[in-house]
Amino acid sequence: EKYKSQNLKKEMEKILPTSILNLLKLIGLYGNELGLNVYVVGGFVRDLLLAINSKSNGTKSIPYDIDVVVEGDGLLFGKYVAKQLRAKYIEHPKFHTCSIFYRNGENKIIRIDIATARTEYYEEAGELPKVELSTIKKDLYRRDFSINAMAIKLNSGSFGILMDFFNCKKDLEEGKIRILYPLSFIEDPTRILRAIRFEQRFGFEIEPNTLTKLEEAVEKGYLEKVTGMRIREELEKILEEPEPMKAVKRMGKLKIIFHLFEKTYYSPTLEKDLEKLFDVKGYFKANLPSYLNKVRLFHLVLDVLLQYTPEESLKKISERYGLPKDFIKNLMQVKKVYSEISKDLNDKEKILKLSYFYEKTNGFQNEQLIFLAVKLPEELLEKYYEYLRKIEKLKLSITGKDLLKKGYEGVQIKAKLEEIKKKLLNGEIQPGEEKNLI
Ligand code: ATP
Repeated sequence: EKYKSQNLKKEMEKILPTSILNLLKLIGLYGNELGLNVYVVGGFVRDLLLAINSKSNGTKSIPYDIDVVVEGDGLLFGKYVAKQLRAKYIEHPKFHTCSIFYRNGENKIIRIDIATARTEYYEEAGELPKVELSTIKKDLYRRDFSINAMAIKLNSGSFGILMDFFNCKKDLEEGKIRILYPLSFIEDPTRILRAIRFEQRFGFEIEPNTLTKLEEAVEKGYLEKVTGMRIREELEKILEEPEPMKAVKRMGKLKIIFHLFEKTYYSPTLEKDLEKLFDVKGYFKANLPSYLNKVRLFHLVLDVLLQYTPEESLKKISERYGLPKDFIKNLMQVKKVYSEISKDLNDKEKILKLSYFYEKTNGFQNEQLIFLAVKLPEELLEKYYEYLRKIEKLKLSITGKDLLKKGYEGVQIKAKLEEIKKKLLNGEIQPGEEKNLI
């Protein structure tokens, strides 16, 4: 087999935490014991090479997740490794893979995923199913991009040999995202989103031929063929990146947003609102963190992104991506409140009372409160935040029971309590003075 041979053993010894290095060496030793070739592959190799090449001598970006590929029975090997390491072993029979959870000296859990190198699965009538065992080269060729398609051999005696069959290291050094075969995006359209994610994360560039293929796959509707769940997973991974807006913008330009969310047109207005969302979220995180309770960034982003999408399409989108039952209703409600507020903007006396926000947003979920902050005009935002801070801590010194004793009934009680709350919000009475009002 021809590949650019390079031994990374010395660099690995220098750069990897000892616990990871020793673990990799052990995995290689177990490979020798069973007579199997074993490799660490994918993101681990990519990040290791990036760390080796970066001037800073840190190991910050070395992942604690290790993907291992075995030329031979990966499950058999996995069981053996788990036994030797006394580690937890979980099999995923559907995918012919297994995972090992190893607790290292520092009490960190290291996850090792083990797969069998294979390309095809044959089943002939009347015969036992056969797995065509394959080489590491074929396994790497099936991967998403060249930067993720390198392996490092772990076996004792050849520990540290970089397997680079497709000029991957060169792409990594030049910052290029490149598919390995022309039908790559057609075969697995989630790679369209992965390409954007890696491009933005590393500040790389999708190389021209790959970009053409990506655009063709988008144009021809291949994203629509993927299940909503798989798309959602990739979108959530994008949102976990440090600067997700970069990727969102790229997805907008490449019409990916439109193909993922029907009748949803990425516009400068939407882009501004999305940018605002990340600012607002940052504000909440720093100043009003309790409002982020149970809030999913995915849902917030969709609130903003889908605010102009027609309701018919919203239903389909909501079903496709498994959005919460009340997602559409809540979105519509914020839109309605926002348009009411827009009409009140000239009535300064009305809108600058904190009780105004109480009337408008009472009963809102956190997600709705944050989405409204994105929509509010700048001049109202400070007041709104002040309201949120105040209502968060607001506690009445009287209860419904006190009112009941005074002879109030059913609906009156609720109304009275709200009236008192609003007076407190506006500073018209001070905490403790509630009882004077009943
Ligand atoms: P991250 O740093 O985000 O975890 P990663 O490269 O480790 O990046 P994973 O999604 O964990 O990403 O995938 C591990 C490896 O599996 C990748 O490096 C890649 O080689 C391969 N891979 C993952 N998804 C695909 C896919 N859709 N098509 C082909 N190969 C894939």
